Amino acid sequence: MTKQKIQSRGALEKIKPYSPGKPIWEVQREFGLRTVVKLASNENPLGPSPRALEAIREALPELHRYPDAQAIDLRSKIANKLQVLPEQIIVTNGGDELIKLISETFLEPGDEVVVPEPTFGEYEFGGNLMGAAVISVPLKENYEYEVEALLRAVTERTKILYLCSPNNPTGTILSRSQLQQILDFLPKHTLVVLDTAYSDYVSSSEYTDGVEFVKAGYPLIMLKTFSKVYGLAGIRVGYGVASQEIVNSILKVKEPFNVNALAQIAAAAAIEDDDHVTRSAQLVKQERQRLYGVFQELGLRYIESSSNFILLELGTDASKLYQEFMAKGVIVRYGGTWGLPKHVRVTIGTPEENDMFMKTLREILSSQR
Ligand SMILES: *Cc1c(COP(=O)(O)O)cnc(C)c1O
Repeated sequence: MTKQKIQSRGALEKIKPYSPGKPIWEVQREFGLRTVVKLASNENPLGPSPRALEAIREALPELHRYPDAQAIDLRSKIANKLQVLPEQIIVTNGGDELIKLISETFLEPGDEVVVPEPTFGEYEFGGNLMGAAVISVPLKENYEYEVEALLRAVTERTKILYLCSPNNPTGTILSRSQLQQILDFLPKHTLVVLDTAYSDYVSSSEYTDGVEFVKAGYPLIMLKTFSKVYGLAGIRVGYGVASQEIVNSILKVKEPFNVNALAQIAAAAAIEDDDHVTRSAQLVKQERQRLYGVFQELGLRYIESSSNFILLELGTDASKLYQEFMAKGVIVRYGGTWGLPKHVRVTIGTPEENDMFMKTLREILSSQR
């Protein structure tokens, strides 16, 4: 046979493979461990909404049917909760799919996408996929947003400005007045994507999830996921909220059955499970304070977080310490992927999981000294 010469698109050369948090089974196998806690992917340690599980069980006998291509029931529940029209909602196979669909809808080769740095990697992926130029704007030294720097990066080619609030992996937020300022100064051809995956864990009254700005008619799409506080990461569902015009454009690139039947049913049940959301958010807020206390006691620097994870500075040995955590059965995320080689990001778990994390942290640090 002759040598194959099937060329992939040039744009794909820029795409780096996604490196997910290590799964529990892999670390168990690799290190011969029984007890492993995963604090690496910002999942809900309390598990899925019990109401969602019940709804899934009831729906199983209907799996021979195609899902609702328009996700009517779920969209109406989301619309009801946010007090917008169902036509302003698009439901997707996780928030990740929405980012890809937005990219496919709005980006031409040569367009520009502005993203904060460090932030969630999927924005860059979407830009690269479409051959757009991705312009990164560093957060300030304390990892807060700097409005002026973001606006300075916007040009006549900027199609999308991504804002992640609370930002992954820093946990910092963009305030309502900062967002207002951005929206007021942005040129008419620039769409803002506000990623609010972690909005439920915010305590600050300065925070906005952006829905008020959608209602006021600004060109903004608010992104939300069922993977975090609702505890449904494994079933893949998320959504966007924007003007009908923006939603209709994105619907053109959506596959009809992008959200599976169980995901739709689970999300529709979870969004009404206020009890599960409240308990999950409260756990995070309490445990966040407890973790801060231990970090302070150990003299470690961290970024105050509005989210269910904390960016922790471990110094030049962070990569080695990350490996040691893993060898002791605690999976956290190493900051190297975000250009933060001195940091790890730790997801806030159950009190027991956090105890194990803190015990391991003490052990590792004391053997280092
Ligand atoms: C987890 C996450 C998402 C969405 O994740 P999906 O599981 O694809 O819904 C979106 N944005 C950020 C910042 C996230 O951390």
